[in-house]
Amino acid sequence: MKAWESNVRRVTPYTPGDQPNRPGMIKLNTNENPYPPAPGVEKALREFQTDCLRLYPDPAASVLVEALAERCQVKPEQVFVGVGSDDVLALAFLAFFHSQKPIVFPDITYSFYPVWADEFRIPYRTAPLDEAFRIVKEDYYPENGGVIFPNPNAPTSLALGLAEVEDIIKHNQDVVVIVDEAYVDFGAESAVRLTERYDNLLVVQTFSKSRSMAGMRIGFAVGSPLLIRYLNDVKYSFNSYTMNQITLRLGVEAVRDEAYFQETTAKIKRTREEAGKRLSALGYRALDSSANFLFVTHPEYSAKELYEALKKEDIYVRYFDAPRVDRYLRITIGTDEQMEALYAFLERYRPGLSQRRERKL
Ligand SMILES: *Cc1c(COP(=O)(O)O)cnc(C)c1O
Repeated sequence: MKAWESNVRRVTPYTPGDQPNRPGMIKLNTNENPYPPAPGVEKALREFQTDCLRLYPDPAASVLVEALAERCQVKPEQVFVGVGSDDVLALAFLAFFHSQKPIVFPDITYSFYPVWADEFRIPYRTAPLDEAFRIVKEDYYPENGGVIFPNPNAPTSLALGLAEVEDIIKHNQDVVVIVDEAYVDFGAESAVRLTERYDNLLVVQTFSKSRSMAGMRIGFAVGSPLLIRYLNDVKYSFNSYTMNQITLRLGVEAVRDEAYFQETTAKIKRTREEAGKRLSALGYRALDSSANFLFVTHPEYSAKELYEALKKEDIYVRYFDAPRVDRYLRITIGTDEQMEALYAFLERYRPGLSQRRERKL
């Protein structure tokens, strides 16, 4: 080892899902939206005047902050925007989780949380989900340095009711509680309203899933003006110009088209309900999803083998080689057509001989 290496901040990075991009492939592995962004987004991009790129963008991202404040019915001082919710969450970890006491999050959850905690040297403990993969709210009662959980949770797809979310916040008023609502628009109740009553609550959402803009990188947070001010202080101490001119312009268009947003999220929910039925008819079991993906298992088939078999057909889903979840696949809800291709493959799928024989022995 070189001497200078002892001074390197060494981290184990988060591993995102595969991002292959071949024509004709069916990509159901990273929870993207199968529908295009709102039509106004394309129009705004075509009409975009590039001369403004000469200038730095507005560091406060005001146009987007204001559009989001209006949509969420809060004041602009209560909104923060960032480069995807990953950026918002990372800055929130840095700003709000600065205690000697461990922060708490579920044992099965978004795998970026432990990565940020390690990177920022934040102590943490995980609270095990119960046998049915549900968050146990009482696990978040003991003293801690902060709380974060997604609602709905990923990769389980299960949502807590708003009363349970509030119960966790109520028991944690001396620390910051972050609710990661990446999937909330697909069927869970948002905690945004609770930010009026709890000044320690930060609700984080993204344009990557329900607004079909994973490639644009926009995330945002809603919280009390005090919380948002602290978050901005950290951002301005790191990089003032996180949101570029094009992103700001296109982001506003996406927020404004409420009708398109309602239509596409409803379509995905319908496809999800249908997928639940079709998979169940084929002997699979999916958890009761409030998200744009299903967490699916089969009593006999190996999830890993099925994942590999699907991959050979150019159908990508997500498999997690980790304790408790390695019998499951996380399948993003695609278009009806993409899902039909999935069902058609599953109908003719027969697992390998070796595996069947093993089970009989
Ligand atoms: C997708 C996802 C995010 C991050 O999304 P961005 O693309 O960075 O906005 C955050 N949390 C959870 C639980 C997610 O699934």
